[in-house]
Amino acid sequence: MTPELQQELQSCKTLPSPPGVATQIIELANDPQADINKIAKILSMDPAITTKILRIANSPMYGQSRKMENLRQAVIVIGLNATISLALSFSLLKSWQDDGDEGGLDYPLYWRRALLAATVSGVLARAAKLRDSEELFLACLIQDIGMLALDRTQPGLYSKLGDDQMHEKSVTELEIKEVGADHAEVGGWLLERWNFAERTQRAVAASHDPSKISESEELGKFARCVALTSMIAEVFLDSSGDRDFEKLAKLAESYLNVDKEALGEMLMEMTELIPDAESVFETQILIKNSPTAILDEAKEVLMIRSLAALQKVDDLEDHNASLEDRTRELEEVSKRDTLTGLFNRRALNDFLDSEFRRTLENAESLSIAYADLDKFKHINDTFGHQIGDQVLQTTAKILQSCVRSGDVVARYGGEEFVVAFPGTDSDTIQRICQRIVKAFQDTTHEVSRDEELTVTISIGTATFDQDQKFDSVGEFVQAADKALYRAKLEGRNRTVAFNLVA
Ligand code: GH3
Ligand code: MG
Ligand code: MG
Repeated sequence: MTPELQQELQSCKTLPSPPGVATQIIELANDPQADINKIAKILSMDPAITTKILRIANSPMYGQSRKMENLRQAVIVIGLNATISLALSFSLLKSWQDDGDEGGLDYPLYWRRALLAATVSGVLARAAKLRDSEELFLACLIQDIGMLALDRTQPGLYSKLGDDQMHEKSVTELEIKEVGADHAEVGGWLLERWNFAERTQRAVAASHDPSKISESEELGKFARCVALTSMIAEVFLDSSGDRDFEKLAKLAESYLNVDKEALGEMLMEMTELIPDAESVFETQILIKNSPTAILDEAKEVLMIRSLAALQKVDDLEDHNASLEDRTRELEEVSKRDTLTGLFNRRALNDFLDSEFRRTLENAESLSIAYADLDKFKHINDTFGHQIGDQVLQTTAKILQSCVRSGDVVARYGGEEFVVAFPGTDSDTIQRICQRIVKAFQDTTHEVSRDEELTVTISIGTATFDQDQKFDSVGEFVQAADKALYRAKLEGRNRTVAFNLVA
C-alpha cells in the first residue's frame, strides 16, 4: 500500500470504525483473563446482540434439548471464542449496515455479498475440518471491509464501475489502477489497526490471493476458505451465468481438495441455509426468483454422476458402496438416539471434546456422571423388552428433569447414560447425582394395569478441574465408569465419585 493511501486512510474522519460494544468485544478477545461472566456482561449491554446470540444457541446447529434462557447458558453452549466472534460480527454488521454512503459503492450489494460469504462459510469449515467456524464466519463477513474504507476516502471511485460492482475481479483491477492497492490489502491494514485477531487480519489481507499464506501453515486452510466464500457468494449473486462451475470447481479442488461432485452437494446445502440466514440478519440476501445458472450446473453434475454410476457395472459396486457410506454417514450425522430422543454417544463425545478443551483453557471445572440402571436385564426378562424400552424412555425423562439446561444428557449405550455438566465442581455433581438416585427411587413404572415397579440407578461421577486432571476425554469417561463399577459393587442404588475411589 502506498504511503499516500495510508496517509489518506489515517486522516479520514468518516472511516468505518468499530462501535463501542465491538471495541470492547475486541479487547475481550485479546484478554487472556476473559471469562463467561465478563463477556455476558458486555454483551448484555446490547439487547439486539443478546437476542441474536440466544437465537443462535437455541438453533438446531447446537442441538440443545432445552431452551437457553440467558446469555450465560448461551455462552457455555456456543463457547467463549465462538461467542466473541459472533458478537463481533453482529455488532459490526449493525453499525456499518446503517451507515450512509455517497462514494458510489453499491451498499445493498456489498452487504448481500458479505452475508452470503459468511452464511456459506460453515459448509466450507466442515469440509476443511476447521474447528473455529465462527471465527471463519467473522473473517468472511468482513473480508471486503476495505471497500467501505476506500469508498469513504476515494469518493466516486466505485461509480466508475457502473453495474459491474458484482465482480470482484473488475473491482480489484479498478482499485489497483486508481489507488495502487486492492481492498483486501486495505482491509488487512484496517483490521490490524483495530486490533483484530492476527488470524482474521491475515486471512482478510490474503483473501484475493490465499497462496500468500503457505498451505502448511495452520492459517493456510482458513485463508483458502475465506477466499472461496467470496467466489461462491459471487456465483450466488450473479444470475447471468457467466461464471462457470468448472472454474469454481477447479479452485475448490486445489484449495480444499474437494471434487466436483462434493462441491455440487455443498452448493445445494448452502442454498438451503440462505432462508434461515435471511431471517437471522433480517434482510433479503438473494433476489427472489433469480435462478442462478451455477446451481443448475451443480445439479446436473450430481445427476450425471448418478446416471454414469448406474450405467457401468463396474461402477455399480462403487456406487453401492458409496451409497452405503452415505447412509452410514447420515446415521452418524444424526445426533439423536431414536428410542429416547437423547443425544447419542457420538454427539456426546463431540460435545465432551470441545468442553474438555475449553475447561482446560479456562481453568474451569467439568463434571460427568456415568449412570447405569440396576438389574435391568431382570426387567427385560420378567416383563419383556417393550416394558424395558418404556423404562428407558422414562429414565431419559427423569435424567432431563434433574439437570440444568446447559447440561447434556446422552444415551451412551443400552441402559447406560452419560451426563456432561459444564462448569460444575465435584461437590455440586455429587449433590445433583444424589437427587437423581432419589428421583429414581421415587418413580414407579406402570407395567400393567395393576402392576408397578421401581427401577434404581447407580452412578459414577468424575470431575476434571485444577485438582484432578485427565489426559483425554477417554480417560475422563473411564474414570466415571470406574466409579460406577464401585457403586455397583457397594450395592447399587447410589452415587460414587471417582476421586474417592482412585
Ligand atoms: P447391573 O445392575 O449390574 O447393571 O445389571 P444389569 O442387568 O442392568 O446389567 P447388564 O449389563 O447385564 O444388562 C443390561 C441389559 O440391558 C441387557 C440388555 O438386554 C438390556 N438392554 C440393552 N439395550 C436395551 C434396549 O434398547 N431395550 C431394552 N428393552 N433392553 C436393553
Ligand atoms: Mg445395568
Ligand atoms: Mg450395563
